Amino acid sequence: MRQQLRWIANDTIEFSAIVAIVRGCKMILYNANNSPARQQSDIMHELAHILCEHKGDCLQLNSDISLRVHNAGHEQEAKWLGAALQIPEQGIFEHVRAGRSSEEIAQIYGASLPMVIYRRRILAIDRRISYLKQVR
Ligand SMILES: [Zn+2]
Repeated sequence: MRQQLRWIANDTIEFSAIVAIVRGCKMILYNANNSPARQQSDIMHELAHILCEHKGDCLQLNSDISLRVHNAGHEQEAKWLGAALQIPEQGIFEHVRAGRSSEEIAQIYGASLPMVIYRRRILAIDRRISYLKQVR
């Protein structure tokens, strides 16, 4: 079984991460060939599926292992929560307000630069900070 899990996690083309249920225990399988920032993002995404208790459709690999396949609604929730787990709103807000660059923030959270830019944009961080500067 260890060999099968290793195959799923490392040798599957375009594989990022997935929740597998192995003998009743949830496990996050991720592709260790991706960059550390990408791995962390993928793990947070899968953790979000677990926290949201997304059941998904179970793809039975064999008697011991099944994989979860999620619908588009679940994917949106996991995308949002996974990103929030990786880069919390209050944290990015304070770092930007302190004048740190997106590159520095990426370093702090072990995240990719596109993830930091996504969080800055979707949370309107820069707009909110410039508004705070205007009202003071
Ligand atoms: Zn997903």
